[in-house]
Amino acid sequence: MQGLMMSMPLTITSILRHARRNHPQVEVVSVTADNPRHRTTVGECLQRSAQLAHALQAQGVKEGDRIATLAWNDYRHFETYYGVSCMGAVLHTINPRLHPEQLAYILNHAEDQWLLLDPAFMPLLAAVKDKVPELKGAIVLCEQEDLPDAPEGVALYSYEAFIEGQPVEYDWPELDENAASSLCYTSGTTGHPKGVLYSHRSTVLHAIAAAQKDVLCLGATDCVLPVVPMFHVNAWSIPYVAPMVGAKLVFPGPKMGDGETLHDLINDEGVTMALGVPTVWLGLLNYLEANGKTLEGLERMGVGGSACPTSLMRKYSENYGVEVIHAWGMTEMSPIGTVNTLRPGMEDLPESEYWTMRAKQGRTVFPVEMSIFDDDGNELPWDGKAYGALKVRGPWVVSGYYQRPEVDAVDRRGWFDTGDVATIDSAGFMQITDRTKDVIKSGGEWISSIELENVAMSHPDVAEAAVIAAAHPKWDERPLLIVVRKPGQQVGSDELLAHFDGKVAKWWTPDAVEFVDELPHGATGKVQKMALRERFADFKFSA
Ligand code: AMP
Repeated sequence: MQGLMMSMPLTITSILRHARRNHPQVEVVSVTADNPRHRTTVGECLQRSAQLAHALQAQGVKEGDRIATLAWNDYRHFETYYGVSCMGAVLHTINPRLHPEQLAYILNHAEDQWLLLDPAFMPLLAAVKDKVPELKGAIVLCEQEDLPDAPEGVALYSYEAFIEGQPVEYDWPELDENAASSLCYTSGTTGHPKGVLYSHRSTVLHAIAAAQKDVLCLGATDCVLPVVPMFHVNAWSIPYVAPMVGAKLVFPGPKMGDGETLHDLINDEGVTMALGVPTVWLGLLNYLEANGKTLEGLERMGVGGSACPTSLMRKYSENYGVEVIHAWGMTEMSPIGTVNTLRPGMEDLPESEYWTMRAKQGRTVFPVEMSIFDDDGNELPWDGKAYGALKVRGPWVVSGYYQRPEVDAVDRRGWFDTGDVATIDSAGFMQITDRTKDVIKSGGEWISSIELENVAMSHPDVAEAAVIAAAHPKWDERPLLIVVRKPGQQVGSDELLAHFDGKVAKWWTPDAVEFVDELPHGATGKVQKMALRERFADFKFSA
């Protein structure tokens, strides 16, 4: 027997309608390249989303077409989240820190038709324009008078002129809730970046869950500052959650890494919840300590993307009265998988036990399921000691990568292997202990070890090379290059590092080189990265 309840599709358009009707007056504050405090409202932004949809439609954009962005967090980027997805097209947010080669690969693989970009990223457009034949034009997120010169052969518009005069209402289509809404490529795997294609349903379910008390705990009295980029898993879904619950939004624009700006935004705008990777919060802490500043109304700080050091949590809690909430997730998980929020009685744990527990990545958010498995696929006990491959499943977890049918994202039993290794304790708190995927996470963004190894191996004096993540006080991890020279060769660190120039993004270049006589190999001849990570566990980069 079927239930007799309405079946309303869960679409991003439903968030848009709800926000326009219920809290259009809620403020949206942005730092932009030319305005330290741009002010608007959710209602105005969503009207401009409708204008964008009209303008794109006039250019022939149809349901399912991919529209790319290369932009920092601000109100215009926020408008694209709704204008593009609600008209039925797919918003493809791209990381502007990628090397132009990778950017061209991603634009082509996604077959993006239009690119919306901040003026600061014009050099990237110039670098890729001849390699992206499908791209019909680019829209610069600026006023008409600030429109930069168009690179040769590119149809270039300013965003403001592009949407000007378009109606502020749009007859949004009734979309299937399983229709694609947005696309984000992850470099956190081996090989080419892979596209994770979110659906309206997965996005809305994730946003509803993210707002819950034991997740991000967001409501209409909150003011939220996403310092996590809008090109990285939809800024952890904040651009959807805030309009859904009516929370004020504060966007840091290009000033994400600037402690002073973050401090001023938090105190002046009444931010209650801020989210970002550990590197960002370390930068803010350094600014606060160096300048004797305080944080006025900030209650909670969501930290994820990399393991959060306990010292950082303690300092914010003890010196600034801010609760640091450690969370874990992935691009493939929209992103939230676990959050470290307390169970009854945990607050009374002895101090050291309390902080040991808070440093864990946390417990699952319903309805995501997780478990740990040994190499034979047997489920391991949740005893806080057994560790194994961390696998997840749920309605906002990837089922396959975009246009990559050859990659099995999910195993026979429906689990997605995260590439993380973890323990889970009897209270359900997961803790990451290692990683099986061969990548490095620096300041919240991925670096491919394999690509770096290929560059190193292309040097004529190198016999073998391996790149591992080594702990770094500011960036969490940085690449350490380990090299076996060819017999009789004496190539040094400087020459080897100079060999990376122009071949990878500058910030990918390893920070140090260690020369060894041989690398550890497994039975199949593969370099044993785990053994290398253990050997260089105490490695310290020079300041
Ligand atoms: P991304 O897809 O770029 O968001 O990266 C996801 C990966 O980042 C995870 O699979 C982990 O390897 C790592 N990660 C995310 N959050 C945490 C965390 N809180 N602690 C440790 N590693 C994390």
